[in-house]
Amino acid sequence: MNLEAFILGSGGMMPLPNRHLTSVLLRREGELFLFDAGEGTQVSLRKLNLRWKKISVIFVSHTHADHVTGIPGLLMLSSQVDRDDPLYIIGPPRIAEYIETSRRVLDMYINYEIIVQEVTEPGIVYQGDGFHVRAFPLRHTKPCYGYTLEEDWRPGMFHPEKADALGVPRGPLWAQLQAGETVTAADGSEVRPDQVLGERRSGRKFSFVTDTLPFSEIADEVHYSDFFVCEGMFERALEETAREKKHMTAEQAAIIAEAAEVKKLALIHYSPRYTEYDLKQLLKEAQSIFPGTILSRDRMVYPIEYVD
Ligand SMILES: [Zn+2]
Ligand SMILES: [Zn+2]
Repeated sequence: MNLEAFILGSGGMMPLPNRHLTSVLLRREGELFLFDAGEGTQVSLRKLNLRWKKISVIFVSHTHADHVTGIPGLLMLSSQVDRDDPLYIIGPPRIAEYIETSRRVLDMYINYEIIVQEVTEPGIVYQGDGFHVRAFPLRHTKPCYGYTLEEDWRPGMFHPEKADALGVPRGPLWAQLQAGETVTAADGSEVRPDQVLGERRSGRKFSFVTDTLPFSEIADEVHYSDFFVCEGMFERALEETAREKKHMTAEQAAIIAEAAEVKKLALIHYSPRYTEYDLKQLLKEAQSIFPGTILSRDRMVYPIEYVD
């Protein structure tokens, strides 16, 4: 099952010619989930030729302009499409007011259902087929949430030699065992899946954390993420500035990644003060703490693989 992250925008505060504002798209078996939609989100979707009509949910961290101004354009773009499923928009208080006002003032006639859910406490905010999304509070200048998308556990590896030994003939019965069903062997005895499967295996986990002070509970939430997208807005020398503005440095993001034992950290939401060249400094500082750090770039695609 494919799971890929597309960076649609990597900038914070202000768009630059080659850097749109923060937005990450996750594609899981053809289904799309958007995490924030800053200015330029639509442009990146077009350039990547993604089938944006399939967006099921837009998760919003907070209602600062650099994270939500791409939403009205997206809704406009998709106002008259063939879709039976509703579009969910999940975010902090006042997101409903923002969507409602945009629709009204901009005269959008949208021919499908939009369901807006405001998050007020930590917990599971969306349940899909084989995964769930959890929201947890961050510490910014206004209510802000981080999100994790976590897949369900998978059955263990199938051991054909054990099935053979128990007298289950190769064929459909093997598939049934792998699907978790008990089958009847050639001699009439029952064979349970746990007799032929190894330890159950974890699914994959994606985390999205932006616009926050660093604090230790973030590491608990994003623990063991396979792909952790986290704000790395400033260099170490501007740690005080970051604190005042309730943001974090690339190095602080790396400290969280290290504590959370994530597999890969992708920095995002760069201050517009940094040129592409300057970003190398942020990367260096983060990698000195957590070597598995990368710089997210607009329209970068990252496949999220199973560990085993
Ligand atoms: Zn921001
Ligand atoms: Zn903000």
